[in-house]
Amino acid sequence: MTRRSLIAGNWKMNGTRASLGELRAMVDAARGGLSASVDLLVCPPATLLSAAVEAAGEVLALGGQDCHTAASGAHTGDVSAPMLADLGARFVIVGHSERRADHGETDALVAAKAKAAWDAGLVAVICIGETEAERKGGETLSVLGRQLAASVPDGATGANTVIAYEPVWAIGTGLTPTVADVADAHAFMRRTLEERFGAGEGGAVRLLYGGSVKPSNAAELLAVANVDGALVGGASLKAADFIAICEAAP
Ligand code: PEP
Repeated sequence: MTRRSLIAGNWKMNGTRASLGELRAMVDAARGGLSASVDLLVCPPATLLSAAVEAAGEVLALGGQDCHTAASGAHTGDVSAPMLADLGARFVIVGHSERRADHGETDALVAAKAKAAWDAGLVAVICIGETEAERKGGETLSVLGRQLAASVPDGATGANTVIAYEPVWAIGTGLTPTVADVADAHAFMRRTLEERFGAGEGGAVRLLYGGSVKPSNAAELLAVANVDGALVGGASLKAADFIAICEAAP
């Protein structure tokens, strides 16, 4: 099964209109040929989405960082999937560990958000990953299995879903799992998806690695079997770093 690499940037709660210069530099690089082999995605804060879509044209996709389960209604401060789609977003991250930790998001809520994303025509980037304590307890694969079962709704396909494996202890810490550990986790996720969704769709869902990806470690992480790209936080804020990571994709 051939899957195109996807390098996705998650700007988190960073960036004002001044940051669009970085996005424009990414777009220029993509126009210069980067996007021929790699799909590029940036998920800026919702406040920048509209301007980012205008700046990005066709070469770089834009996404939200979260969406509500409902399409509209009395949910002050929230953003719905149809609102993101209306601005030109094509993807939305759901279940990021920061949302699971800061907002108590459960697997069931994440699955409902993924369905809301699909209903709006968006691709759901569903994040899963173990905490440091779970890793130390030897529970990594059982946590991933539980999260895949409960956070990924029935009906997932290669076209509507991307899974991001993000060990919580690796996010923003500069720490990464060994290449062998990433290989084990991604092989397990692939097997699990194929068993549930069949070899066709389970084999087509792209599996991203996320957690302290930077230019210096991108090549070895992206070369691992079943790693179809990366979800990049801090290093996606600077065009030069993001472009270097994209260039490392096979
Ligand atoms: C993330 O926020 O999804 C992430 C992986 O962050 P960082 O690359 O900064 O570890």
